[in-house]
Amino acid sequence: MTSSPLHIAVVGGGIGGLAAALAMARSGHRVTVVERAARFGEIGAGLQLAPNASLALEELGVLDAVRRSAVAPPQLVMMDALTGKQITALDLRGDAYRSRFKHPYLVTHRTDLHGALLAAGEEHPSITLHTGRTVTDAVQTPAEVRLHFAETSERLAADAVVAADGLHSRLRQILVDDGAPVCSKYVAYRGALPVTSMTGSMAQHATTESVIVWAGPRMHLVQYPVRRGELYNQVAVFESDHYDPDSDDWGTEAELEERFAGSCDAVRDALPLVARDRRWPLFDRLPITDWVHGRIVLLGDAAHPMLQYLAQGACQALEDAVALGRALRDHDRPEDAFASYAALRTERAASIQTNARRFGEICHLDGMGAFLRNQLLADRTPEDFDDIAWVWTPAGDRRPAPTP
Ligand code: FAD
Repeated sequence: MTSSPLHIAVVGGGIGGLAAALAMARSGHRVTVVERAARFGEIGAGLQLAPNASLALEELGVLDAVRRSAVAPPQLVMMDALTGKQITALDLRGDAYRSRFKHPYLVTHRTDLHGALLAAGEEHPSITLHTGRTVTDAVQTPAEVRLHFAETSERLAADAVVAADGLHSRLRQILVDDGAPVCSKYVAYRGALPVTSMTGSMAQHATTESVIVWAGPRMHLVQYPVRRGELYNQVAVFESDHYDPDSDDWGTEAELEERFAGSCDAVRDALPLVARDRRWPLFDRLPITDWVHGRIVLLGDAAHPMLQYLAQGACQALEDAVALGRALRDHDRPEDAFASYAALRTERAASIQTNARRFGEICHLDGMGAFLRNQLLADRTPEDFDDIAWVWTPAGDRRPAPTP
């Protein structure tokens, strides 16, 4: 660190906010995290962590803790949801993968990752964590930022603020004002169940430990084990024909059944075991470059909400956190640190946001489009990472992946 420590407030205690708190505290600063929920937590579903995320977790000092419960899948397999045939695969444990990426591809339960970050935050003497604090406003002077809360008239003064308050970020709304998030008209049903509840062909797939993506027309199903293989995570995603921005009555279970009705036996076998307790409409936003507003900076979904098709939203939030920690180690003034962080991160995050939309379109092709996709991918080998390597290799990585 270059000069005296700053006091930095983080708004939002999700994966992005907790990771940022850890990164900044490890760079020598004092951090206060304010989270609106009554308890810190995550939802009961899985998360894929590509090697760029594992590298970030290593830098944050929590990779070993995450690895203890995560699964390192041998393959990422794309299957045709209609025919049941394999389209393509990537080897995630072979020599080609290891020599190129160095860090593991992991799948984890969100609670396990969030819990590891929270435990590290609780142990760090420079981090203070508060729940039940909903930020309503952030008022800047040339010297500090004051956070206002819904629950109390007390203000929190800090030298700088990191807005990690997610997709519907209040601070982004105040600072950027680029309207509401964009609904893709797709919806997800997801959750992780004990692997022992899997039967038939599903039980067989679960034992492979691979990440399996069943791609079909305007729908897909993702499956993988989490928590040492004790739980099996499933995410069913489809486009609704009844999207209505003013109603919750679209993307219903009846539509889920209808959209997946023509799929192969393995997918239809899996569907009754997809969690139905909540539906998740899927949103993103168009990229922006103005992440920095004086002493306030955006991070994670608040900065770059993306569709989940490249499984990179949390991975990018972790990259943000590491980049921000480094910038605050190398610069005295928060404004300079934030400018350096944004210069490193905005273009890369924007590319991934944009390409996540494209990959969703490729995944959801129908008819001739799907036939051509399958033909084009048929000749790929499982060691060919050329199309995905840029996503899995962070900008500014000090140990860049060697080109084969
Ligand atoms: P959030 O997780 O939204 O956290 C924001 C926090 O801020 C919350 O705790 C919230 O309570 C708090 N908050 C909000 N407003 C306020 C306020 N005003 N005051 C105080 N606190 C506030 N990403 C991957 O990397 N891999 C995957 O496999 C993957 N799969 C996905 C599958 C689906 C179906 C979806 C929808 C997303 C997926 N993602 C994946 C994306 C990933 O979940 C998100 O990008 C990531 O969780 C964002 O973290 P965050 O901390 O930025 O935001």
